[in-house]
Amino acid sequence: MSNTSFNPYEMAQEQFDNVADKLDLDKQSRNFLRDSLREFNFAIPIKMDDGTTKTFRGFRVQHNDARGPCKGGIRFHPQETVDTVRALAMWMTWKCAVVDIPLGGGKGGIVCDPHDLTAKEQERLCRGWVRQMSKNVGPLTDIPAPDVMTNAQHMLWMLDEYEAIRGEKFPGFITGKPVGMGGSLGRKEATGYGVIFTVREALKELGIRPEDTTASFQGFGNVAQYAIELYHQLGGKTVCVSCWNQKDQTAYSFIREDGIDLAQLQGITDRFGGIDKIKAAKLGYEIQGGDAWIEQPVDILVPSALENQVNEETVIKIKPSVKILAEGANGPTTPKADAVLKKRNIFVIPDFLANAGGVTCSYFEQVQCNTNYFWDRDEVLGKLDQKMTSAFIAVSELAKKKKLFMRDAAYVIAISRVAQACKDRGWI
Ligand code: NAD
Repeated sequence: MSNTSFNPYEMAQEQFDNVADKLDLDKQSRNFLRDSLREFNFAIPIKMDDGTTKTFRGFRVQHNDARGPCKGGIRFHPQETVDTVRALAMWMTWKCAVVDIPLGGGKGGIVCDPHDLTAKEQERLCRGWVRQMSKNVGPLTDIPAPDVMTNAQHMLWMLDEYEAIRGEKFPGFITGKPVGMGGSLGRKEATGYGVIFTVREALKELGIRPEDTTASFQGFGNVAQYAIELYHQLGGKTVCVSCWNQKDQTAYSFIREDGIDLAQLQGITDRFGGIDKIKAAKLGYEIQGGDAWIEQPVDILVPSALENQVNEETVIKIKPSVKILAEGANGPTTPKADAVLKKRNIFVIPDFLANAGGVTCSYFEQVQCNTNYFWDRDEVLGKLDQKMTSAFIAVSELAKKKKLFMRDAAYVIAISRVAQACKDRGWI
């Protein structure tokens, strides 16, 4: 499903250029904002459990910090490239700006497949990444977080290494930590719930009741599982989820027309969001190929796995019933597919708005760590709902006022805020 020649950074820059034209942004601001502020590309040598040494490649890209310290996750992925990290860092800048939190954009990664690494090897990798980056990250400069195939445990190892190097406690250095160890209640739910807060608002705007809708999700990891949880609480029905099958090295879709049972599927899913195919078949799920999630006759599609999944080849498979595409993943839709979605009048909730719940809650985590006072779950999720809802309304009002598509309206808000901050600081 993924096109190997796809370059997410070119796509992020193309999206930026399109909006820069709409904003009539001056040349200096364009040149400055379409590139990263700082980039780090380094080797991490690790002692493997069998006594050999293996070298992994690590990255950190800081796209822009005019509105505050950089913020962004660290991915573990075998196909990670510096261009993917650059694109994701840029998207983080727009994401923090669109929900109006005082942070900039960064992203990191390590080229590795944690499926093939023991816990001890993963710990050494996390500590190795921090040893390489400790001088250039920190609570006032750049705050990492979990992303694809990294979790709270990885964050705690990274925090521990950072504090060991610095000789002081810095709970605000990294977010996505375990609750009780500086983590925030509500963080694990935040991205998925945030997606559904925006879906709820979009449905309101379209005059559709959530309980009259069905949805199909690509992915069954952190984002998808919590999005499904809240979507079901609102009365919606999920008929399909898909995931990567590590053993078969391919993706499958799991379909149940009368609605999936979330808890039951979670019971047969590994920590990487991989559903046990044999057990799912025994439970009566229909199993189809990786693309089937996009072909479902549902109201809402939620790509929540990887970038480049709604592209020229797959967009034509979207059924006429689909009214909303909520981008849980980062960069799931290519500009060419976006043009088709516009033509078909599908309501797109763009990634950097739809999935901004994660970084918003990470910001809350940082605030709680820095003040050493922790809020209860309802307070966190209440504040999250408020932030996501007001960001959605601001974007949708601008879209209506200026007759823009949602993605363009979100970009206009975000890029204007960042460009203004750069100007106010006298950078441009
Ligand atoms: P995850 O690792 O928990 O889950 C990823 C899911 O995608 C798994 O179910 C995996 O099997 C599935 N998957 C992988 N390749 C696939 C393929 N080719 N086809 C179908 N399914 C596939 O990751 P996550 O944290 O849920 O993140 C998912 C997406 O959301 C990523 O794009 C990530 O950057 C983005 N995101 C995550 C957060 C967060 O807080 N976790 C925040 C913002 C954005």
